[in-house]
Amino acid sequence: MPASLPGIHHVTSITGDVQKCVDFYVSVLGLRFVKKSINQDVPDTYHIYFGDYKGSPGTATTFFGWPAWPKRRAGGGQVTTVSFAVPRDSLEFWNSRLRKLGVQSSSTSRFGTEALVLSDPDGIELELVGDVSPGFQSVPWPDGPVDGEHAIRGFHSVTVTLAEAAATIDLLVKTMGFRKAGQEGRRTRFETGQGGQHSILDVVEAPEGPEGEESIGTVHHVAWRAADAAHQAQWREVLVKAGRNVTPVIERYYFKSIYFREPGGVLFEIATDGPGFTVDEPLETLGSTLSLPPWFNVRRETLDETLPPIVVPTTATTGAGH
Ligand code: ZN
Repeated sequence: MPASLPGIHHVTSITGDVQKCVDFYVSVLGLRFVKKSINQDVPDTYHIYFGDYKGSPGTATTFFGWPAWPKRRAGGGQVTTVSFAVPRDSLEFWNSRLRKLGVQSSSTSRFGTEALVLSDPDGIELELVGDVSPGFQSVPWPDGPVDGEHAIRGFHSVTVTLAEAAATIDLLVKTMGFRKAGQEGRRTRFETGQGGQHSILDVVEAPEGPEGEESIGTVHHVAWRAADAAHQAQWREVLVKAGRNVTPVIERYYFKSIYFREPGGVLFEIATDGPGFTVDEPLETLGSTLSLPPWFNVRRETLDETLPPIVVPTTATTGAGH
């Protein structure tokens, strides 16, 4: 088996309102808007990225802006919760911040760890989990609206809901190198890599349905990290041998990607850590221009006209340090 997959690379969801999405993830959650690009397969629509200061692997939460799509609740065969890591002592701060900003949240506890549960503007379920791993590196956004002490440190985990979990668990454990790390009711916890923050995948078995559909308010896919193209190629071979229908390597410009569906229906991607978001913009001004892969540059003018403008909240409007 190749070296293990270290953890989550990014999570991509579908929003019906790009501006509301930007306002929420930047002004409320304090993530940095690191890239404004297009969906390479539906190029007259946005693909926007949030993350830590650099958009480091393990912190990037991204959205396709597909306003014309139906809006549905997430269900079986999908990632149903996206969990971010915050310091344990910061949960009180977040509780009061969310209340002040009029965002409803509730408290929960999983595997002995406290968390806040909330929804984003499209209805995607999020958690802020009070559990950061010292080994996980993220770079706080110095001009962000949330003080670095309390800032989101990237992903904690994702939860997938499946009608039947057995075949998925088989793939995770026997092929993908995940280990079972706990069981709580219908929730089974798996870890990859070094374990801890961003390496965690929870599987919830819910045969009663409903099945999820690709729609506004749902997660489109979760991407796992590969160190580089060679590591990705090794994993591709392993997955193909295991009978998965894996795409060829696709050049996403900020990383290289392969995609496949796990047996429960969730779309998985494996993406390389590099080259990252500074490949076409300096670190200081990430997200400030419409970034297009070179082969889309001929369409820049048309796209500039078709795509609705996005206003990224600035320090002045969000109030840095609060
Ligand atoms: Zn992706």
